[in-house]
Amino acid sequence: MSESTGTPTHCPYCALQCGMRVTALPGDAVDVAANGGGLCQKGWTSGTLLNSPARLTTPLVRVDDELVPADWDYALGLIALQLSAIRFEHGADAVAVFGGGGLTNETCYALGKFARVALGTSQIDYNGRFCMSSAAAAGIKAFGMDRGMPFPMTDLAEADVVLLVGANPAETMPPFVRHLERCIENGGLIVVDPRRTPTADAAALHLQPAPGTDLALASGILHAVVTGGHLTQAYIDERTTGFAEAWRVAATWWPERVEQVTGVAAADQRRAAQLLAGGDRAYVLTARGTEQHANGVDTVHAWINLALALGLPGSMGSGYGCLTGQGNGQGGREHGQKADQLPGYRRIDDPVAREQVARVWGVHPAELPGAGRSACELLDALGTDDGPKALLVFGSNVVVSAPRSNHIADRLAALDFLVVADIVLSETAALADVVLPVTQWAEEGGTMTNLEGRVLLRTKAIEPPGGVRSDVEVLAGLAVRLGQPAERFPTAPETVFTELRAASKGGVADYSGITYQRLRAGEALYWPVPDEDHPGTPRPFLDRFNTSDGRARFVPVAYQGQTEPVDADYPLLCTTGRLLAHYQSGAQTRNIPELMAVAPEMFVEVHPDTAARAGLADDDEAVLISRRGQVCAKVRCLPSMRLDTVFLPFHFPGAGRANLLTNPVLDPASRMPEFKVCAVRLTKVENGT
Ligand code: SF4
Repeated sequence: MSESTGTPTHCPYCALQCGMRVTALPGDAVDVAANGGGLCQKGWTSGTLLNSPARLTTPLVRVDDELVPADWDYALGLIALQLSAIRFEHGADAVAVFGGGGLTNETCYALGKFARVALGTSQIDYNGRFCMSSAAAAGIKAFGMDRGMPFPMTDLAEADVVLLVGANPAETMPPFVRHLERCIENGGLIVVDPRRTPTADAAALHLQPAPGTDLALASGILHAVVTGGHLTQAYIDERTTGFAEAWRVAATWWPERVEQVTGVAAADQRRAAQLLAGGDRAYVLTARGTEQHANGVDTVHAWINLALALGLPGSMGSGYGCLTGQGNGQGGREHGQKADQLPGYRRIDDPVAREQVARVWGVHPAELPGAGRSACELLDALGTDDGPKALLVFGSNVVVSAPRSNHIADRLAALDFLVVADIVLSETAALADVVLPVTQWAEEGGTMTNLEGRVLLRTKAIEPPGGVRSDVEVLAGLAVRLGQPAERFPTAPETVFTELRAASKGGVADYSGITYQRLRAGEALYWPVPDEDHPGTPRPFLDRFNTSDGRARFVPVAYQGQTEPVDADYPLLCTTGRLLAHYQSGAQTRNIPELMAVAPEMFVEVHPDTAARAGLADDDEAVLISRRGQVCAKVRCLPSMRLDTVFLPFHFPGAGRANLLTNPVLDPASRMPEFKVCAVRLTKVENGT
């Protein structure tokens, strides 16, 4: 297929949201082509799942411990009946809702409204809490606004120096790397990652700290910037506050001390400082490796402090940004599926926001519940005396993706009623009382907001299989059965978006000036877009930050040690991450034969000497054990691994679930769990293990 035929839409997976064209072919097949840019392996094969035998095409209802087909009317009627009975007996908060960062803006908005209005529950959160919440919290505090990249990613093409922290775009979003080509060619790419990833391979300087220590590393580089005479004093005076307090802490982290903690040579810290200070156009970009810690917010602040010391944020051609992971990770945290939030990225405890959103929704502000539990706390409370008794899950596979996943399965089993809406029978759906088959990307319209805060139109390219409904149709069907007027829950994506625009008006993420018509016309609209004549805001911080005084905030942060240090029983640091061939819990990509051929099973990356000490070699079956569980994995020996570190991908189910090991301890501000480091031991599979 040429790049000019087919329906233009966007890839179903990551936050890069690559443009593609989709054409229905004779029979059930579809053709996928790149639309202008490139696609990775996942994008090229995304059409396969549309007609996969794994696809759900009818509701399933549990009868005698088996899921059996049912018609929609029966399935929705059963859900409404059960939810009503549970609410009557235990109150509105006994019903919880869990969303996802891959859902369209329209679905996220409708889900938040459905929870607050049709169910009256405060108990709603989503899997984006696992993904970007630490950078979001830090961005709001430092800049007054959380927009992952507050500049178009094409700006990176002119960069002299880019410091990438805890990010591996060469595998997770390969087409992104073309924006770094100039910087790579000029020897300006610095990568901070405990692993020697393909991204680190392209770097002029790879800093390889022990997992969980990069707050200390950021402090060491900041120390080198200040003592090396690279501080941008005029910028600090004019555009920031709090440098003196932040420096008082960072001054105690000189590079030699940081080397003791992180393993990164003091000379390399100084070289990073010199490279960053020497580039006219420099960027600091962080990602999950920075965030997914019990001190994730502080860690992000440490890198923001470094960027501010160098005068980067809000300067043309330079900046700080966070690479969002999930397809709609940005939009998914703006429109109300988060426990403490209303549409437009406004707080649910803000009386003005409550008043406006209640008016748009046709209810009294007092009827809107307050803030609920965050994702991990919500999952942890399921089936407990004062926790939810029923859960509705949309677009998330928590049995694989949540930390300490065996405990999560136990909590789901303790529920009176579990409903899952999904496209395949995920590991979570398999536990449900009712499973609802829903549309996927090419079968539905809607908008997605990519990692730059640019709103993109997802155009329906093909008809869904008979028996499948969109998420908003499911929510509308349930709302009516729960006694809501039908007109309060529209099902046409454009109508839902029109309402979202009104609800977001005046908020930080103001979409009120964005229309489907403008998007169809090809306008590149970055929020906020406060009216239909507004051109959008690609670089929101050039003149001022979004704080009350327009200045960015340095925040004093101190490295406090790893949350779960190694000891004699658990002597290795385990870190987790993504592979090129898979996406998130793998519910979609594990059903694509081409991708499974590339990455079929769980493995552990380990230094050959570390493996040998455990009596293991390449391709041996190993068991990794943490304080919470154990995981089976095939050994891959890599000399580039640190001797104290093992790596596990988190896409695999069953006994290969990396999250059987992970530590559910939460960041105190963002409530993000500590996915990125836990203490483990590596052992050989003995007979009977
Ligand atoms: S980089 Fe991301 S958006 Fe682009 S094709 Fe790959 S998975 Fe899809």
